[in-house]
Amino acid sequence: MEGQQRSRRVILVPSPFQGHINPMLQLGAILYSKGLCITVVHTQYNSADASGHPHLQFISIPDNLSDDEISSPDKTTLVLILNQKCEIPFRECLTQLMQDQATPGEIACVIYDELSYFCEPAAHDLRLPSVIFRTSNVITFLVRGTMLRLRAEGRIPFSDPMSEELTPEHPPLRIKDMPFSYFAPFEVLFEMINNVRNMRRSLAIIYNTMNCIEESSITKLQQKIQIPVFGIGPIHKVVPTSSSSLLEEDANCMQWLDKQTPNSVIYVSLGSMASTNEKEIAEMAWGLANSKQPFLWVVRPGSIQGSECIEALPEGFKEEVEDRGCIVKWAPQKEVLAHKAVGGFLSHCGWNSTIESICEGVPMLCRPCFGDQKVTARYVSHVWKMGLHLENELDRKELEKSVRMLMTDKEGEEIRERAMKLKVEAQLCITEGGSSYRSLKELVEFIKSF
Ligand code: UDP
Repeated sequence: MEGQQRSRRVILVPSPFQGHINPMLQLGAILYSKGLCITVVHTQYNSADASGHPHLQFISIPDNLSDDEISSPDKTTLVLILNQKCEIPFRECLTQLMQDQATPGEIACVIYDELSYFCEPAAHDLRLPSVIFRTSNVITFLVRGTMLRLRAEGRIPFSDPMSEELTPEHPPLRIKDMPFSYFAPFEVLFEMINNVRNMRRSLAIIYNTMNCIEESSITKLQQKIQIPVFGIGPIHKVVPTSSSSLLEEDANCMQWLDKQTPNSVIYVSLGSMASTNEKEIAEMAWGLANSKQPFLWVVRPGSIQGSECIEALPEGFKEEVEDRGCIVKWAPQKEVLAHKAVGGFLSHCGWNSTIESICEGVPMLCRPCFGDQKVTARYVSHVWKMGLHLENELDRKELEKSVRMLMTDKEGEEIRERAMKLKVEAQLCITEGGSSYRSLKELVEFIKSF
């Protein structure tokens, strides 16, 4: 593509959270590789570092968030506030971009994260087509539809939200696996679900998913809606992209990994948002220590309620594990998962982490916290069968046993084999002729047709 004229531009609008910024910038890199110019319009809050993405243009819009709004643990309410506060700044920004076009019609469309739905009215009023990018899985979207129906029928809130009863429409999901988030009041959660499900006048939906894991859900969704659904994942494997981490990655852990034996290390991370308490941290620490497996553990600043990370680790733990454990504040996760020493991933099952694990054939120990993570954990363990689900209160003995089972025991062998099989299948999806490869080709043609 180098040297050729790029005549069409796409405006990308991520939602300002790590698990949304990463896939949006990966999508930007893909569309750039297909000959499109890319402008990323982002909020000041959690603004992505442009330096690693020289081919993309970055423009910041004011979000006017207060410190209290930013520091609140209730991110669902924050999403609603962001949508209120960003609509006008985005409209002004887009109007300016339209005026500055090199030629009329240069801007082909706006692609916005489903959480950044403030974009759609401005795009529509300026007669620009818009496309939604959903960074989670399709099954969560389908289950949220069921949740809305049950709520309308007065059956939510459930008398027992932790019920093991299967959901009739989405087995093997149980009531307790439904994507509730308990840090926001119910009305706020349902307001957000309604807002993100509303496709407004957008013309298509893009998903970072693929047929090898979600073919039936994609088909079901496509039957329900009139606009095209493009499953183009695993997107981080389509073209190489630089890191878009908001925290500094500690690369020293890669040297530590180099010293470990192949497939021996369990990598532990609960992503960018989930938090835990000191009691759970102690169970996790001793479970890992007693398993005798080497581990690489991301203890993110602020992820332990009420304390600064490292101080919350139990007394005597570091001395006990010595060189067998490596603890960092943030890791280059994709590289970590691709390292030959890593043989398992204790994860909160964020969608990006899950896709990244699948792509490296790394089996998972699922410890979901909220929302779509619960749906994904159930799918990892009971549909794709590439992991074990750690349920109930976290207990050091159970963790120790599960780590051993996943990493070394005969019982875990099938899970490990299944993970390796999925890795191959995921790669095939983006290889010429694969389902995501075809979907991406259609998406690019669709965008260029605007
Ligand atoms: N990540 C990372 N380093 C870490 C932990 C996470 O680079 O130490 C990245 C990870 O690769 C993924 C993203 O952060 O791309 C987290 O997204 P995910 O959807 O898994 O979870 P969320 O943070 O949204 O809960």
